[in-house]
Amino acid sequence: MTEGNTSLDDKLAAVRRLFVGKLGAKIGEIEVARLRLFEAESEDDAPPALEALIFPVHRLAGSAGSFGFPAVSESASVLEKLLHDIAEDKRLPNDKERWQILALMERLRQSAAKPEAPASSGIDIGRAEQDQPKDGENQTVFLLEDDEELASDLTSQLEHHGYQARVFHNASDLRRAAEKTPPAALILDIIPPDGELAGIEALDDILRACSSPAIVLSRRDDLVSRLQAVRAGAHGYFSKPLDITRIVEALDKMTAAKENDPYRILIVDDDRALAEFYKLLLEKAGMIVEIVTHPLRVMEPLFEFRPDLILMDINMPDCNGIELASVIRQKEDFFRIPIVFLTSESTYGRRLLALQSGGDDFLAKPVRTDLLISSLISRAERARQFDSLISRDGMTGLVNHSKIKELLETEVYRGQRENQPLAFAMIDIDLFKSVNDSHGHWAGDTVIKVLARVLGQRLRKTDIIGRYGGEEFAVILPNTEGADAGRLMNRIRAAFGQIRHIAKNDEFYVTFSCGVATFPAIATPELLTTTADDALYAAKNQGRDRVILAGSQADFAEMSRKPAAAARA
Ligand code: GH3
Ligand code: MG
Ligand code: MG
Repeated sequence: MTEGNTSLDDKLAAVRRLFVGKLGAKIGEIEVARLRLFEAESEDDAPPALEALIFPVHRLAGSAGSFGFPAVSESASVLEKLLHDIAEDKRLPNDKERWQILALMERLRQSAAKPEAPASSGIDIGRAEQDQPKDGENQTVFLLEDDEELASDLTSQLEHHGYQARVFHNASDLRRAAEKTPPAALILDIIPPDGELAGIEALDDILRACSSPAIVLSRRDDLVSRLQAVRAGAHGYFSKPLDITRIVEALDKMTAAKENDPYRILIVDDDRALAEFYKLLLEKAGMIVEIVTHPLRVMEPLFEFRPDLILMDINMPDCNGIELASVIRQKEDFFRIPIVFLTSESTYGRRLLALQSGGDDFLAKPVRTDLLISSLISRAERARQFDSLISRDGMTGLVNHSKIKELLETEVYRGQRENQPLAFAMIDIDLFKSVNDSHGHWAGDTVIKVLARVLGQRLRKTDIIGRYGGEEFAVILPNTEGADAGRLMNRIRAAFGQIRHIAKNDEFYVTFSCGVATFPAIATPELLTTTADDALYAAKNQGRDRVILAGSQADFAEMSRKPAAAARA
């Protein structure tokens, strides 16, 4: 992270140097426009000449402050205000105004000639930094367990849930290894059945040496040992016999913080240098940023990039930010996306207009960096929360039926444009009614949640998982060929079938069937859905606990299927 920041700092400095380098040319451009205005002879020429001058002045007012030249920004703003007043009367400047314009131009040149030291205007944004998820984040868990049998059982169950366990038989080995490479979490069977403090001391010792969160397993269920474990810094305490589902839930919670999806911000600004500058700042704060410099090209990145928030300039050629916001809001898909206007526009009426068109907020250029970042984060977060309320399933946290259909359309559209394949899988839990009947509805719910998290663990971040109905799931696998999708779903099928579910001192296993259809062989979202559903139906008919790829004879069950598993359910 530190290294990344250094290079970002370098980049920021480079962008700033670039701005300084172009400052002279920018003022030259303003000077040319000023000359044209002063040379204009008829009042009819006034509006276009004024507009041609206001535009570069406005831009400079906005960008200079952001790059750390407040005095340049100040002079440009005053000049802009004066020009606006004249433009409102649709006339040429009078003599007094000409003198004022010349004086302001001079001030502009002077402040540009001796720029202040690059403003540290809140570039220090360490506070706001989000943890960037790393691909293939290590989900290794260190397990301290001297009972061989329990260790191997726990290891294999954890593996089905997507955690890699490394077993240690004594505390000091584990401590040394954890100091070297801290695992995602620790599971420690450490409290001796009757001894008093030995286990707690060892626990204390490990937790001091290693910052990974820890779960304690114990044969004892008394309050004193629980309390001691918590005091030593343990995050969870489970007494035997162990309920693996609850342990995995606890592991998920402990490791979840690292999986925070970075916010995706789309910057719409015709001033590329400024847009790049903001991009770097936001990236430094852990966000993912794309830039559109041509307002009329905003629709495509909206579909493809799916930003959490749009940061939009108001004054742009062709189509201003206010108009653009209303166009974006007309599309149902983007109705809720927050739009923050970043502008040196100060006229009250314009601000109001922008709010009425659905824009959410204004930040005046130059904006303090920490303010920019914290307000973007809080808005993006709120939007995500709201979005997840209405497009996610409360029980599993997966996207719901209507959302997955919408996303399938988006992904097929993307596949068409990029000429990439895509797989769509439908999953239905086998004989689920009998799970409910034999073990109760609560156990049934737990099975649904377990399958949801197995899918989440085993699929890529770019795959989309939805709860399609009660015990039915749907998965979109972008950029994936049918055979690969079939193999992958089959591995998940095999892992899920080996998970031991627990209900009222009772153990059972559950399987699922899956049908897969692929684009471009199947061309539309509707046909992909019905084809995958037909393949799922075929999987059920052929005996369940299998994956069928539509239009293929492939048998994905080369990994030994456990025919007994379904019967055990
Ligand atoms: P098949 O292998 O043919 O899919 O058999 P099945 O028993 O799974 O199929 P069926 O569609 O007959 O039964 C699905 C059952 O799933 C019926 C319903 O009560 C149950 N179910 C649906 N949603 C939930 C849920 O959220 N929680 C629980 N516990 N059960 C659910
Ligand atoms: Mg069903
Ligand atoms: Mg079913």
